[in-house]
This record gives sequence, C-alpha cells and structure tokens, in this order.
Amino acid sequence: MPDMIRPARRGLMLILSSPSGAGKSTLTRTLCQRETNIDLSVSVTTRTRRASEIDGVHYRFIDRAAYDAMLRQGDLLEWAEVHGNGYGTPRKNVETALKAGRDVLFDIDWQGTLQILDKAREDVVTIFILPPSMAELHSRLVRRAEDAPDVIARRLANARDEISRWSVYDYVIVNDDLGAAYEAIRAILTAERLKRSRATGMAAFVQNLLGQPTQ
Ligand code: ADP
Ligand code: 5GP
Repeated sequence: MPDMIRPARRGLMLILSSPSGAGKSTLTRTLCQRETNIDLSVSVTTRTRRASEIDGVHYRFIDRAAYDAMLRQGDLLEWAEVHGNGYGTPRKNVETALKAGRDVLFDIDWQGTLQILDKAREDVVTIFILPPSMAELHSRLVRRAEDAPDVIARRLANARDEISRWSVYDYVIVNDDLGAAYEAIRAILTAERLKRSRATGMAAFVQNLLGQPTQ
C-alpha cells in the first residue's frame, strides 16, 4: 500500500514473558527476522554470556557497577532481578523506535511487564508463553545445553512462581508446536496493529474519503 493511503498509526510495545525454557527467545527472534517494522529491545544484563550469545545482539553484558550506574541515572525504562542477575531495558532505543513509528518487541519477565504496563498501558500488548508440561520445560532447558545444572535447577525452581503470573497478560499461548505458537503471535500482532485506538491517522483518512466524489 503506498504511504499516501496508509493512515498513520501509533507504535506498540509487544511483550513476551514465560518461565525460562518455554521458548520466548526462539519466538521473539523468529518474529524479528520475519516481520517488518518491529525492533527487538536489547536488554542489559549482569548475567554471564552464554556460548551462543553475541554481546549487543542478544544482550548488552555489563558488570554490576555499570548496571547500578544506569539505574541511578534513570537510563532504564524497567528493570528486575531475575534468577540472581540484574536485567533492564535501556530507555533510549525504545523511545527512538516508537518515535519513528516502529513497534518494539520485549523479552522480559513479569516484574518488568508490570512496570511498562504502569507507564503506558494503552500502547502495550502482553503475551505469556506456557510450556505444555513441567517435564517438557525441564527437558527443553537440558536440551538447550547452555546452562550449568545448578543454573537449570534454579530456573526450574522459579518456574512455578513465574507461571502463576499468567493472568496479568492479555494473551496466553501454550508453546507445544513452535510453528503454531509463532502463527498465534503473528495473528495477535496483526490484529493489535489494526486497532482503531492506535490508528492516529484514520480520522483524517475517513474525512478525506468522505469528501471524495463517488464516481
Ligand atoms: P526461553 O527464551 O523461554 O528461555 P528458548 O527460546 O531458549 O526459551 O527455548 C528453550 C529451548 O527449547 C531451546 O532449545 C528451543 O530450541 C526449544 N524449543 C522452543 N520451543 C519449542 C517447541 N515448541 N518444541 C520443542 N522445542 C522447543
Ligand atoms: P535469560 O537469562 O534466560 O536470558 O533471561 C532470564 C529472564 O530474564 C527471562 O524471563 C527474561 O525474559 C528476563 N529478562 C531479560 N531481559 C530482561 C529485562 O530487560 N527486564 C526484565 N524485567 N526481565 C528481563
């Protein structure tokens, strides 16, 4: 559609949360690769980098002192301690993307979700990803083969508490089949992008439409 006839729309913030191992990183990465006009918010974390992760792509890996400094300076839109590490969303990139009319995707936990909901409820869409069973959650963490056994044990111990937050979210998806879960997220994004409340340019578009001759 040419820009002339695509009414302007406010950018939205799409948040995905889940217990560790349910599949949200896989789903967020696929969404960013396949969809246009959506940026992944790259968080900062004090956690150690996994072998497969790239600094600046998956996270910005920083030490406690740098993390505390960002907190003090108000550089983080939201932040939380998760599984014993500090995580946070740098404010700047999110604001730049939204101002440019782009949507922003977040892979953050329930604590961060509540903070962003508090700041901008109308612009936020939240999705919670559930594993099909606790046994499958365990085997996914083991199959991922990126964390030491004590780290996996800690994540599993936290899973029940994280799962109990599911009802905070707008949408809940059981990630049994990866393709089906991805299609569900895509459908949510498509519908939420079309919401009348986000179509800031629609009133002008309709006024112009009504002013046009029928033939
Ligand atoms: P999270 O980001 O929620 O911790 P990941 O996206 O890293 O989880 O997924 C954990 C592991 O489970 C990865 O090895 C991923 O490939 C695998 N996985 C994700 N979704 C599915 C699925 N539907 N079926 C089987 N394996 C999956
Ligand atoms: P992981 O260490 O597996 O990458 O992430 C652990 C948890 O921290 C996940 O639930 C993930 O969503 C969450 N997380 C990652 N980045 C952020 C962030 O910037 N803020 C908050 N609140 N949680 C985050």
